[in-house]
Amino acid sequence: MAAVRHILVAGAGIAGPALAHWLHHHGIAATVVERARELRAGGYAIDVRGAAVDVAERMGVLDGIRAAATEVDRIRFVGRRGRDRAVLSPDALSAPDRAEELPRGDLVRLLVDPTRDHTEYVFGDRVTGLDQGPDGVLATFEHAAPRTFDLVVCADGLHSSTRALALGPEEPLRRFLGGYISIFGVPEELGTPREVALYNTPGRLSGVSRTSRTGGARALLGLSLRMENGIDRAGPDAQKRALRTAFDGHGGHTDRLLAAMDQAPDFYFDSITQIRMDRWSTGRVTVLGDAGYCPSPLSGQGTSLAMVGAYVLAQELGRQDDHICALAAYEARMRPFVRANQDIADSGMAFLAPRTRLGIAARDALVRATPLLSGPGRLSSRIARAAEAIDLDAPARA
Ligand SMILES: Cc1cc2nc3c(=O)[nH]c(=O)nc-3n(C[C@H](O)[C@H](O)[C@H](O)COP(=O)(O)OP(=O)(O)OC[C@H]3O[C@@H](n4cnc5c(N)ncnc54)[C@H](O)[C@@H]3O)c2cc1C
Repeated sequence: MAAVRHILVAGAGIAGPALAHWLHHHGIAATVVERARELRAGGYAIDVRGAAVDVAERMGVLDGIRAAATEVDRIRFVGRRGRDRAVLSPDALSAPDRAEELPRGDLVRLLVDPTRDHTEYVFGDRVTGLDQGPDGVLATFEHAAPRTFDLVVCADGLHSSTRALALGPEEPLRRFLGGYISIFGVPEELGTPREVALYNTPGRLSGVSRTSRTGGARALLGLSLRMENGIDRAGPDAQKRALRTAFDGHGGHTDRLLAAMDQAPDFYFDSITQIRMDRWSTGRVTVLGDAGYCPSPLSGQGTSLAMVGAYVLAQELGRQDDHICALAAYEARMRPFVRANQDIADSGMAFLAPRTRLGIAARDALVRATPLLSGPGRLSSRIARAAEAIDLDAPARA
C-alpha cells in the first residue's frame, strides 16, 4: 500500500487548518478548500480546553491564543428589571491554565496564517463529487479542475456537504438536543464591559455579552423546544420572524436586541444538534471535527475536539503507510474522548433555558450555591475531566 502523500481537506474552520499544520509536521501535503471567499475576524467566543491546550502549545499558537483571549469577569443571571439573581465567575467553569476563550475568527487566523507557506488554500470553492479508486480519490469542484488525492478529510462543519457525498445524508446522523440558538452582533452600549448578562422566561433565554477585545457586543437568543421544526433550514428572514414571534413579550431588554437584529452583519441561527456516526470513514474518505462528531455549542468542547482530532489523525497517518489502519486507529483513540465530551451537552438546555419558572429558580439557586458547594474551578469538574480524557502520546497500536 502506497503511503499517503497528499490530502484534500474540505473546510478552513478550526479542524482543517489544524490538520494542515500537523500533516506538514508528519511530511504529508495538504490542499484545503474553503467555501467562504475569505476568513472573517471576530465572531462568537469559543473555548480551547484541556488536551487542546497542549495541542495548541505544541503548535506554537498558545501565546497567540492567550493574547487574543476574551476577558469576562462575570456571568450574571438577571431578572426582568436587570437585577442579579445569581452570578457566576468564569473561574468556576474551568481551571484557569487549562482553558482559554477567544473569538472564533481570531483562532482560525492563528491556525491558518502559519500554515500558508506549506499548505495550498483554495477559497470560494467546494467539493461537488468524490470518486474513489484503488489508488486515490478523484475530487471534482464547483470551480477548480478535478484532481486526484490519496485521502479526503471532511472538516466542513456540522452540515458538511462533503461528508454527504461519501458517507450519506445528514438526517440520520443528527441528535437534536432540544433547542435553537441565535447569535449576532449588537451595538456596544447594549452590553456592559467584561460581562455576560442572561435573562430567562420559561423555555427562553436572551442575553448580551461584551468582552474587552471582541469589539461591540453580541446578543444570544436561545429557545427550548422538544421537537425539531425545521426552522434552521428556512433561511435568515424566516428565522428572524420566528425569533420575533417566540420572544414577543419576553421582557428584559430583548426588544432592543431584536431591533438590532436586522442590522447585524453576522446573524447566526442553528438547531442545537450533535453528529453521531456509526463509522467515521469509508475507504479513503474520513471526517474530522464538527463534520464527524459535533458535540453542539452546549458542550463548549467543539473546538477542542476539532484540534485534538486533527492532532491524532495526522499522528496516526504519520505512523503507518496503510491508511485503513491509520483511520481505524484515529477512530479508536478519539471515540471515547468524543463520547465523554458529547455527553456533557445533555443537561445544557435545562441549565440555559429551563422550561418552567421553578426550573429557572432552581438553576439560579444552584449557581448561587456554587462557591459554597465546590469552590472555583470545580462547578464543571465533569467538563474538565472530559476535556483531558485522551492520551496525546499513546503508543502506536501493534
Ligand atoms: C453559536 C456557537 C457557539 C459555540 N460556542 C462554543 C464554545 O463556547 N466553545 C467551543 O469549544 N465551541 C463552541 N462552538 C463550536 C465550535 O465553533 C465548533 O465546534 C468548531 O468551530 C468546530 O470546528 P470545525 O472546523 O470542525 O467546524 P467549523 O468551525 O464549522 O468550520 C467548518 C468550515 O468549513 C467551511 N465549509 C462549510 N461547508 C463547506 C463546503 N461544502 N466546502 C468547503 N468548506 C465548507 C465553513 O465555511 C467553515 O469555515 C460553538 C458553535 C456555535 C455555532
